[in-house]
Amino acid sequence: MDQAVCWQCGGAAEGDCTFVKVLEAPTRRGLDAQGFDVKRGRFTDTIRVPVPRCRACRSRSRISMALVFGGLAVGVVVGWTVFGRIAWAPVAGAVLGFLIPIVALVVVQRGSGRRAIDAYPPVWSLKAAGWTEPSSD
Ligand SMILES: [Zn+2]
Repeated sequence: MDQAVCWQCGGAAEGDCTFVKVLEAPTRRGLDAQGFDVKRGRFTDTIRVPVPRCRACRSRSRISMALVFGGLAVGVVVGWTVFGRIAWAPVAGAVLGFLIPIVALVVVQRGSGRRAIDAYPPVWSLKAAGWTEPSSD
């Protein structure tokens, strides 16, 4: 893959904006890393797939994260103040505050023509071979 072109938008990629996609698999399966460096652990093999990205796409994804967490916080506060007497109001506010920015971001992303990290060919071919996203523990 061309490391000089931003995978997401096709602009000029910059080295310090590279997104590193981490994938893992149980060591005992001994999966082929398809040319990527593998960190062999006792139980888990880990590979880091660099996805070339430009500065604009990196800052856009940071803004996305800020929007999602900001939406969550606003949702909780609004749920609490408006429907404070109902026990589940803050929870409903949090869910709405979380979902609204996510849905908005998906719509924006579709319209922009930018490609998702998971659509990067080495990432999906590794996933097809059995590599998975690390569990979040
Ligand atoms: Zn880009």
